[in-house]
Amino acid sequence: MDQNKKKRPALFLDRDGTVNYDPGYISSPKKIQLLYGAREALIRFRAAGYLIIVISNQSGIGRGYFSDRELTLIHQRMDEKLGPAKPDAYYYCPHIPDDRCSCRKPETGNLERAYQEWPIDKNRSVMIGDSLSDLEAGRNFGIASFLVLTGYGHKSLQRSREKYPQQVQAFDNLARFADYFLGK
Ligand SMILES: [Mg+2]
Ligand SMILES: [Zn+2]
Repeated sequence: MDQNKKKRPALFLDRDGTVNYDPGYISSPKKIQLLYGAREALIRFRAAGYLIIVISNQSGIGRGYFSDRELTLIHQRMDEKLGPAKPDAYYYCPHIPDDRCSCRKPETGNLERAYQEWPIDKNRSVMIGDSLSDLEAGRNFGIASFLVLTGYGHKSLQRSREKYPQQVQAFDNLARFADYFLGK
């Protein structure tokens, strides 16, 4: 019976600058350093029943800076560091902008794919990231979308004021976002 496959809300999550420090292209597991409060925030989302799904642009692959194999090792390292908060899935775009693919945020290809592969309740799902491309991917997909002020967040917030008529909601970090979204 399909009733067992109960739909769950998803936290669609950018990676670099949102969960871990973003020093530019993360090309090796050694470069993974979690941001303050990220692990605890994700533990809270999981406890609240959310699927945790990373949606990231990794054009470093298309540019030849690292391989898919290395990215797998990077994600394994992230899983180790996140422990009980490790994501349910990682979806990434390996392309460069000139490829004009449908999976590079702000395009929604990877969100659509996740939606097909997981029992996701879209109405209760949310996207969070530090770039306008994260925000726009979430909006294009039709879910609530927010900025974190880690990573490029401050720059993104400033750009959002020039680009959008409406104000964007932004949070100091994932932990503050969890406070807002899940309640303290
Ligand atoms: Mg980012
Ligand atoms: Zn792509």
